[in-house]
Formats: sequence, structure tokens, C-alpha cells
Amino acid sequence: MNGFVVVGTDTDAGKTAFSLIYLAAFNGQFAYWKPVETGDSDTEKVRSLVPGATIFEPLARFSEPVAPALAARLEGRAMPGVAEILAAIPTTELPLLIETFGGPLSPLTEVVLQIELIRALALPVVLVSSTSVGAIGRTLAAVRALDGVELAAIALIGPADEFAREQLMRHLPDVPVLELTMPPGTWTPDSIREAVRAPLRGLRVAANRYPRAEQFAADREFVWHPYTPLRTEEPLHIVAAENEYLHLADGRRIIDGISSWWTILHGHRQPEIMQAIRDATRRLDHVLFAGATHPDAIELAGYLLGSMAWSTGGRVFYSDNGSTAVEVALKMAYQFWCHRGEPQRTLFIGFEHGYHGDTFGAMSVGRDPLFFGRFEPLLFRCLQVPVDANLLNEALQKHPGEVAAVILEPLVQGAGGMQMHSPEELAAIAEVCRKHDVLLIADEVMTGFGRTGSLWAFEQAAIAPDLVCVAKGITGGVLPLAATLASPRVVEAFDTADRAKTFFHGHSFTANPLACAAAVANWKLMQSGQWLHDVRRIEAFWETHLRDPAGGTVLLAGADSTPAGSTVPPGKDLPVKQVRIRGLIAAVELDLPGGYLAEAGAAMKKACLDVGVLLRPLGNVIYA
Ligand code: PLP
Repeated sequence: MNGFVVVGTDTDAGKTAFSLIYLAAFNGQFAYWKPVETGDSDTEKVRSLVPGATIFEPLARFSEPVAPALAARLEGRAMPGVAEILAAIPTTELPLLIETFGGPLSPLTEVVLQIELIRALALPVVLVSSTSVGAIGRTLAAVRALDGVELAAIALIGPADEFAREQLMRHLPDVPVLELTMPPGTWTPDSIREAVRAPLRGLRVAANRYPRAEQFAADREFVWHPYTPLRTEEPLHIVAAENEYLHLADGRRIIDGISSWWTILHGHRQPEIMQAIRDATRRLDHVLFAGATHPDAIELAGYLLGSMAWSTGGRVFYSDNGSTAVEVALKMAYQFWCHRGEPQRTLFIGFEHGYHGDTFGAMSVGRDPLFFGRFEPLLFRCLQVPVDANLLNEALQKHPGEVAAVILEPLVQGAGGMQMHSPEELAAIAEVCRKHDVLLIADEVMTGFGRTGSLWAFEQAAIAPDLVCVAKGITGGVLPLAATLASPRVVEAFDTADRAKTFFHGHSFTANPLACAAAVANWKLMQSGQWLHDVRRIEAFWETHLRDPAGGTVLLAGADSTPAGSTVPPGKDLPVKQVRIRGLIAAVELDLPGGYLAEAGAAMKKACLDVGVLLRPLGNVIYA
């Protein structure tokens, strides 16, 4: 949907006046919708004063001129909530001017404030304020309330107030401030047309903000998507995101049940992170990171190292995604042994069901037959053992002095099917590595940043890996950034005057300043500790709703009926093999054949989408 939302600082701020002038100024180019109105009908006013405008009927109209929630109560009717209003958005080719009621914090229903609706609409906002006494404070307070919403402009309605304009421009330097004077006396279509003044013509808010459905058509022609066959169903046409929701071009709003490939930590477009990126753009765009540095990269490195169990002397090596963080760790591990005079240590050990990314080193240690079997002739030596300290011990005994490092996703192996192991098993694996003097690489790309209930999953086993890979959640999931954290022991082996022993590795976007600024903001959010309460709350939710105390069957609340067209049986009949829960992650493994390419996976994905949830089952394992 294209368009924008007209929000008032409060009741009688001049929202309808603004809408009238805007619709008259861009005659025929915008449609008007006021979803909820009370008292005299603004919709009727617009209809009579802007003849020929495309106007949609309100979803709810109440006769008492009071707050809609109260008006609804007085009439014994139900006030529509956010979901109902979103579902009722009119379908139109024209961008939509959506007029709200009251102010951002006016009650929408008996329990929800209007700001929830404004956020959920995910459109730019024009904030309307009257120039009567108190305009500056009222407007700035409303701007605070609109935190996280894109403010396209402020419209001051009433007699010109130069001081108010000057003050608002000083405190909101990025937001255009318009002044509009309404015609004196009774308004008529002619007088409204005359009130349309030049400044407003410059304010063409969001007319073409979102691509229309036909603009997505070229995707099939031009774009090659990851992990997607070229001959496949249409990709989702995503136009906006906020909190847990993704907005689609056809107006649907779906829940992002897998946090956009496990990246998003605090919901989409988290205001502090968005603001940090905006602020950072005023300072820097990019810095080559070889022989140059910048403050956010240093600050972030300090935070990351401070969270490790090592004493001082560790270092952070930045890169730009999980796979590169893993490549760096593998190369560092091998070069570490070269510097120590043991270049014969060319063997790595990974674990069955492990996944570490799609570049060659990551494929070599991940070794998934379906994903990477084709590249087998090109991959380097790596053993795959089950996640079992005794079996790892046996493998190391068979290859004395050959192994450079063991790499593991601590506690939860993600892409390999959300397989989980205990902190005790992890501690035993670390102990085996120590005993055989091989490096341990913790790949925290998926598990890091609280996903498993602690900041790093390895903390739960009280171990100190030699190398730690982080990515995905490091920026709150917003921008690509990764880091490989090297322990003092590893760093020491590179700390030499011999330039030939440099770690010759780097990427164009290593430690990009905008990404680092997002990561610093994310780190500060994590410091509040709120995430820990959220993890506990969500984990308790999974336990209650997924795990049947009697064992065996899964209790999928709300999945008692099969969505139309779905081949997946209703929740209570699903053949559940195992339910696995750790922190934020819940996985249900179904007793169905077929592995990653299992028909059931595709069918479940479709069934979930039909009820408004984006999930990407890993074959017969459905997880959120
Ligand atoms: N390591 C783990 C544990 C992962 O889960 C992933 C991605 O899912 C990667 C590495 C690769 O990260 P990226 O996709 O950013 O290259």
C-alpha cells in the first residue's frame, strides 16, 4: 500500500483541514480514508468540499463526539482493533491518505493506544498541529510519542506563527515544517482550492513510496535468490517491516516467525538502532579498515572482548557475515599452528548436523551432503563426528598431531535441524579439545546474542573457546557485520615483528561504520537486560504450548483446523517425534520421511503462510 497517515497532536488540531487542502492540491492523485470517526462525519465533509475525490467509507462510525473506545461503549458496540483496521484497508490503485482521530496516544480500543495502529500501518506520517498557544510543546510532545515512526512533515494550521516554526525547525532539523492558513468564514470547494498554496505542492508525501505489485514482476526475470530453485513459486513481495511483522505488497501483514533468518533481535526497525544508523550517516559512510580505524569499531570490540571469559590480550577481527567469520577462524587456527611450527595440522573436526556457512572453508567443516555434496572434490580435510565427547576423543586419538581445530555450534545446531545438546556435553567436548591441545572454535553466529538464554551459548557450559564467531544478531540483525574473536593464546602467536606472519585476510566492508554504529546501539540495548526476561517469557510460552506434560504429542494452540488448500494435518494429529526447546528457539521434529527436501516442509510453510506466519521448516523440522 502507498500513502501516508495524517496524525494530529490532539483533537481539533486541524487534521481534516490538512486532508482537505492536500486532496485539493493533488486533485485526483490520492484517495481518502478515515477508518474510525465519531461525532460529525469528516468523511462527509471531505466528500462535500473536495468534489470528485476518491473517498472510502469508514470502517466504524459512532455518533457521540467522544473517544472512539468510549463512543463504542456508549453504543454497546465493539471498537475495531489494529488487526481489523489493517484488514479493512481499502484496495485502490491510488496512494491512500489515512486520517486518524485525536492524538497518537489517544485510546484506540479499551486496551490499545492509537500509536499501535500508526506503527502497524508502517507509512510515513504528517503531524498536524494548530498554531494556537502551546503549539511548540504540543508538537514536540507528539513527536516523542511517534518515536520510531517516519515523520514526513509537520503541518502548522492557523494564523502564521513565526516563532513556532523557527523553534520546530531548530529542534527537528530534518523535518519540513509547513504553514497552512484555512480560508476565513464557511469553507466551500472554491475557498479550499484557493487555500492550496505553493509550499504544499512541494509536499508530495510518499506518492510512490512502495513498489506496486507489477513492479515485482521483474524479480522472476532478473534476480537469483539464495537457497531457492529458479523454477519456484513467487517470492514474498515485502514492502515494509515493523516489530514482528512483515508487510506485503498485497496488503497482507505476516508474522516473521524466524526473525528474518535468525538475525532480527528486538523486532524490525527497532527505534534506537534505526536512530543510531541515521546519526552515523552524519559522520561516516565507509572506512577502509586496513591501517585505518573509527570509534564505533573500537567501542564495539571492547564490549565484545569484555564479554569473553579470557583475560586481556584477545582481539576482534571484523568481517561482514557469518561465513566470513568462520573462514577467518579456520584460517587463523591453521596459521596459528604454522607459527607454532606444526604446519602438518591440516585436519579439522566438525560435527554431524553442523552448519557454518556456504563458503569453501565453511562447507568443508559443515559437509552437509545435500547442500555441499556436489563440491566434495573441492573441499579440504575434515572429519564429522556425532556431538559426543567420547567419539570426539576417539577421533582425536586416531589423528594425533594432525588436527588444527574443532568447530561447533554451541548448544543448538541450527540449519542442521535445530539439534540440541546439553551444556554438560559441550563442557565435555571442550575438555577433550583441551586434553588433546587442539583449538576449539565456537560458532555463535546463530546462537549468540541471547538466543539460547545466555548472551553466548558457550557460557552455559562455563568454557572459554579459543576462537568465537559472531554475526547475524550483532547489529540487532539490521546490517551485515561479523566478528571473529581471538583468545590471547591465538593472538600471541601472531604478535611478531615478522611481517610474513601477518594474517593476510580482509574484506571491502570489514567493520563498516554504519554497521558498527548499529552494533553499538544493539549492545547498549542488550545491556538493559530486558532480553533475558523476554527469553524466559518466550521459553515458558514454548514449554506451555508445545510440550505436552504427558509427553508425545504436541499441543499447537490454534492449529486445530487445517487451513484451506493445505495438505498438512491439524496440529493435534501431527506425528510428532520430538519437541526441542532452548531459550527463544523451539523446534518440533515430525515423524515424516524426506529430510530437508521433505514435501511436508513445503506444505507446512504454505499452511503457516495461509494463517499469516512466515516459517521455513528445515524439512520435517518446523521451528520458530
Ligand atoms: N554459522 C552458523 C551457525 C549459521 O547458522 C550461519 C547461517 O545461518 C552461518 C554460520 C553463516 O552465516 P551467513 O549466512 O551470514 O554467511
